Amino acid sequence: MRERSHITWVGADAAGIHVSPADCYIDPVRPCKTAIITHGHADHARAGHNHVIATPETLAIMAVRYGETFAQTTTALCYGSSMMLGPVKVTLQPAGHVLGSAQIILDYQGQRVIAAGDYKRKRDPTCQPFMPVPCDVFITEATFGLPVFRHPDPAVELKRLLATKYLFPDRTIVIGAYALGKAQRVIALLREAGYNAPIYIHGALQKLCNLYEDYGVPLGSLLPATAGKAGAPQAELKGQIVIAPPSAIGAKWAQRLHDPLIVFASGWMQVRQRAKQRGVEFPLILSDHADWDDLLMTIEQINPGEVWVTHGREDALIKACQMRGYQARALSVVGYEEGEA
Ligand SMILES: [Zn+2]
Repeated sequence: MRERSHITWVGADAAGIHVSPADCYIDPVRPCKTAIITHGHADHARAGHNHVIATPETLAIMAVRYGETFAQTTTALCYGSSMMLGPVKVTLQPAGHVLGSAQIILDYQGQRVIAAGDYKRKRDPTCQPFMPVPCDVFITEATFGLPVFRHPDPAVELKRLLATKYLFPDRTIVIGAYALGKAQRVIALLREAGYNAPIYIHGALQKLCNLYEDYGVPLGSLLPATAGKAGAPQAELKGQIVIAPPSAIGAKWAQRLHDPLIVFASGWMQVRQRAKQRGVEFPLILSDHADWDDLLMTIEQINPGEVWVTHGREDALIKACQMRGYQARALSVVGYEEGEA
């Protein structure tokens, strides 16, 4: 066992992860004076803080979602650059989760704590890859923190999807994907797999797809999947690929499309029961979170003095860390959802 780090200047309370000497929170769930935001998903990035520090991409995502006045002041911090918050040096590095997602690196009195936020290690052409950085305390998520969660290679999943599409050339492929991150990743992976036809997108995805393109992520030809009149199947979308938010795939909207083949892109699609519950015909296992192997690989690469585990399946990961000689404990942070996995 390594020696305990005795770091007490970072902790969690009802508002989120608190950094005492900097008087700030990371991804707070309540409005607060200074908030450092890891990424734009709604459970991490909330409106109403006084001062928000985040990557330029995350600030832009928040402005799209909440309007330009989502905070009184903002500070854009690019990957690799640092700022002082009181005596604490704050640096952001890529987390590989969605566009602009960042690990928050905190240096204070010779100690380093990293709050990784949500992260993943598998290929994603729409954001910069996770960067392992040595530290004393690594705060990790554990959304898929059980040994049963092993996510396949995204390219293999997309090939499997396209093979099914070519098997049913007349059906409309309707892919449910979260509006921030997953939708753009599915589109970019389809392009990488050689699918160059226009992709039809639900109106709820338009602004975020535009934002990704503005930040240099090419998505190819995207056309609006305008819903036709009630009861009228949309002949024009026959044989096409349509991307929609998860709420739309079970709704009348999707049923109006021509012979829809319902796909859902999520790490949870490994669980058959979840696919069945949602009426998903084709579960596309595509996660924006680290799976079990990648959680452990990341911890071994970083080799921190101590691991703190937040939202997810803390117990199994804590145990696995301890078996590998790491000090590990739960850091109870409320308010994060498993939704966008
Ligand atoms: Zn997230």
